[in-house]
Amino acid sequence: MGNAMAGRILLVDDVATNRIVMKVKLASAFYDVLQADSAPEAERLALDVRPDLIILDAVLRPHGGADLCHKLKSNPHTRDIPIIVVTSLHDRQTRLAALDAGADEFLTKPLDELSLLARVRSLLRARATSEELRRRQHTARELGFAEQPAPFTVPGRVAIITAETDEAIRWREQVRKHLRDRVDVIPAAQVLEALNSMKTPPDAFVISTNLAEAGSGLRLLAELRSREQTRHSAILIVHEPRDRNSAIMALDLGANDLLARGFDPEELALRLRGQMRRKQEGDRLRTNVEDGFRLAVTDPLTGLYNRRYAMPHLGKIAERARAQSRSYAVMLVDLDRFKFVNDTYGHAAGDRVLVEVAKRLKDNLRSIDLVARVGGEEFLIALPDTDLYEATVTAERLRRIIQQDAITLCKGQPGLTITASIGVAMGGLDATSSDKVEAVMNDADRALYDAKAEGRNQVSMGRTAA
Ligand code: GH3
Ligand code: MG
Ligand code: MG
Repeated sequence: MGNAMAGRILLVDDVATNRIVMKVKLASAFYDVLQADSAPEAERLALDVRPDLIILDAVLRPHGGADLCHKLKSNPHTRDIPIIVVTSLHDRQTRLAALDAGADEFLTKPLDELSLLARVRSLLRARATSEELRRRQHTARELGFAEQPAPFTVPGRVAIITAETDEAIRWREQVRKHLRDRVDVIPAAQVLEALNSMKTPPDAFVISTNLAEAGSGLRLLAELRSREQTRHSAILIVHEPRDRNSAIMALDLGANDLLARGFDPEELALRLRGQMRRKQEGDRLRTNVEDGFRLAVTDPLTGLYNRRYAMPHLGKIAERARAQSRSYAVMLVDLDRFKFVNDTYGHAAGDRVLVEVAKRLKDNLRSIDLVARVGGEEFLIALPDTDLYEATVTAERLRRIIQQDAITLCKGQPGLTITASIGVAMGGLDATSSDKVEAVMNDADRALYDAKAEGRNQVSMGRTAA
């Protein structure tokens, strides 16, 4: 039986009974639990098995859990695995050393089972998100787009939100000693207003569970998570020491971290530093993925989609047409005697013509239509949910719009009149036949060939449409 959040957890403790107690708690929630009784064994398993989470004991012999934590967090192959450090000591030094070594969480024994499981869920969720980003980045890279080098981390912004301004100001003074980030105190009543007026939202929030009224901090947490601007912000919730329910609820609502009121201010600073690091790493991954995909699917000259994007997208249009018993149209647009333009006016002039034609096509189609540059001077257009009559009228309109106004190559010079030939084919008309996209494309291609053969600057219909 698998957990919904299928998680593989590595337990590291040199005391067997400790491992057994922990394993029982975790196995009851259906996590897949692995065990290591020494630091070298833990390192080996972390590399070989790549667990989703590591829980390790702070008093691991001979060098201590913080030392192992530091090693795992310094190795690029294990750095992204979240780590919880556990100890029975209420020792400030151990606690701070673990956080300083990069631990994602620190828990003291005896462990409360519900709190532990809420923590595990929260860390596994964050882990799943970063893994998904990494996979997408990998795909973008495979499509041939190298990731940008990691930029220098720039100072970020932290917002502290509590009912009591005095308290917030005290926290800020402490945090400032440890972070280079800008720290703002925002009065609880003005949070949403303040956010709306900010150009860039804070990277991290510190929020008390109890603001104007009990529990309103959690409502604010949910609100921030649902907003586009702050969806990825790090949120650290400060709860009342004995309010276990709020703590668990906060994690399930998407808080990244928790602290009980009365915390050590240095611990707040260290936790915030870890959260800021993870947030900025996440931002960097997201930007790489988005840029990678945008570059991978667009033609740099015209900004239209490229063939790599167009073909699978055309497949989706065909699939939807089949599911809804609707027809769609495909057009191939090829500029006439384009070689002549290049030979006479130069390649740069040819490029300017391509950019202008691309713009005219795009401006004269619906947003749901696909326009792609699939060859040097050849464009593919797909019109979902379109019948033969509409396709014919559209093709004729595009042909006219390309020819209509001469294209300016040089300011003050007479423009150049360009014409295009268009082959049109219909898809989704015959539900019984195997109406393959390739067949529709071939049909459009033949129609284009006919348009050229008939003298160019005209629209020709494929067999399916005839
Ligand atoms: P036809 O009417 O039969 O289509 O004639 P054509 O000259 O347009 O056809 P042909 O395929 O012989 O030539 C296409 C030309 O398009 C060849 C190439 O120089 C030019 N071309 C292809 N890609 C680009 C580009 O990115 N920029 C420019 N400026 N020219 C390009
Ligand atoms: Mg041509
Ligand atoms: Mg051509």
